[in-house]
Amino acid sequence: MALAFDEYGRPFIIIKEQEQKSRLRGLDAQKANINAGKAVARILRTSLGPKGMDKMLQSPDGDVTITNDGATILELMDVDNQIAKLMVELSRSQDYEIGDGTTGVVVMAGALLEQAEKLLERGIHPVRVAEGYELASRIAVEHLEHIAQKFEFNVTNIEPLVRTCMTTLSSKIVNRCKQTLAEIAVKAVLAVADLERKDVNLDLIKVEGKVGGKLEDTELVYGIIVDKDMSHPQMPKIIEDAKIAILTCPFEPPKPKTKHKVDIDTVEKFQTLRQQELKYFDDMVQKCKDVGATLVICQWGFDDEANHLLMHRNLPAVRWVGGVELELIAIATGGRIVPRFQELTPEKLGRAGLVREKSFGTTKDRMLYIEQCANSRAVTIFIRGGNKMMIEETKRSIHDALCVARNLIRNKSIVYGGGSAEISCSIAVDAAAYRYRGVEQYAIRSFAEALDSIPMALAENSGLQPIETLSAVKLQQIKENTPFCGIDCNDVGTNNMQEQNVFETLIGKQQQILLATQVVKMILKIDDVISPSEY
Ligand code: ADP
Ligand code: MG
Repeated sequence: MALAFDEYGRPFIIIKEQEQKSRLRGLDAQKANINAGKAVARILRTSLGPKGMDKMLQSPDGDVTITNDGATILELMDVDNQIAKLMVELSRSQDYEIGDGTTGVVVMAGALLEQAEKLLERGIHPVRVAEGYELASRIAVEHLEHIAQKFEFNVTNIEPLVRTCMTTLSSKIVNRCKQTLAEIAVKAVLAVADLERKDVNLDLIKVEGKVGGKLEDTELVYGIIVDKDMSHPQMPKIIEDAKIAILTCPFEPPKPKTKHKVDIDTVEKFQTLRQQELKYFDDMVQKCKDVGATLVICQWGFDDEANHLLMHRNLPAVRWVGGVELELIAIATGGRIVPRFQELTPEKLGRAGLVREKSFGTTKDRMLYIEQCANSRAVTIFIRGGNKMMIEETKRSIHDALCVARNLIRNKSIVYGGGSAEISCSIAVDAAAYRYRGVEQYAIRSFAEALDSIPMALAENSGLQPIETLSAVKLQQIKENTPFCGIDCNDVGTNNMQEQNVFETLIGKQQQILLATQVVKMILKIDDVISPSEY
């Protein structure tokens, strides 16, 4: 390496021998990559399922996160191997598309890699393995459609939806109140869902949390919650039929823009200045009153003088509301954000049926509830919990549940969980392998074996004998043709997932298999890794 200068005198670096770069070729490259991928999958494997373990991750600045969500674990892990990053990406795309199944997809990919390694060692060309996997994944996805069932629910009977969300929540820390949380998630989704277009805009569901209280106190608010209170304790706490002025201008006299000097050397001058200031406040308040506002929400603060005046003139106000919240309030109440008092008109006011300030416990924690908003169906899930980590994990779990409910509204097909769908696919793929004469046969059979790793991991994490349990269930599925038999993780006494009400969405499961196959194929096709050596 040498430092040189170009004709303009700018420095640049010459790296002399490209051969000094560390470089992996051929089978070595594939093996190294496979190992990196497997290492990531191994970390997540123990987190899978209702008895899965949680991970505690510490960020460089000391923040601690405890979570069971695959996407979050990988997101927070500091990986710098490129292949490991692909696995992170894999989990993220499952999270983005489906929301749930983020751990499962990585475990599946890890198992596929493990099987691929064995095939490579036997001398099968990686491209043939990739082709075989592709064929097998298509067989599996198609088979899932065969065993999928239609899932009936309507707005009056939300019980089935709630039960599916409960499956998702059962693998999380919030397991204890899964019923309450599942009901909240379903109600929230139904509140914003467009059932005719089968569309759910999750952006309309805001998830807020505040430390304190119990998890059971978590509630669904049909409106918006802002972590603010009325600016003066004597202002009314409940405002019905509120007309809201949303202001980004401060309640204070304008500041001189250029440098001026004000000499105040007599009492009279001071009095005039004070009168002037008071008049400013008064005019501002009057302006709000004139257009009919019954509540003012300000982005800026105002001093005690203005506060007192607002209270005196009976105009409740909230100060220091953040820009994002201000926007949300404007959208929900159908109001406009007003940057100058002169521009305030009655049409620009937002409307809400009820605005109330609620206090919690004995501390002076107060929140502002804006309900029955004019314009939007936006809802807020308000999470309570003992500490920040709990609330953050609850937010993530609720996100999973919301996604599951949304997916079911989009597409009513479900498959059974607890590894039953995977076992059934594994049997189908294995049986189909005989149809192929070439080397693909081996890859397809390996794919079937990789599918088994999900139920195996579930069994292992629940403290069961993995191989014995799996083979027993598999035998049962083949003998009785029951694709809904899975791993009895919670020791309920039956491995019939229909009875246990453990469902997963069909699209979620299909996506898992497709995404995992895609990534593994990509990794297998890399045969040359060129990376800069350490300088
Ligand atoms: P993911 O991030 O992939 O959703 P989870 O930790 O949520 O990972 O585990 C999901 C797996 O656990 C699925 O295969 C699901 O079928 C299974 N599962 C969930 N609840 C149960 C249960 N009560 N009994 C058996 N298996 C379950
Ligand atoms: Mg899950």
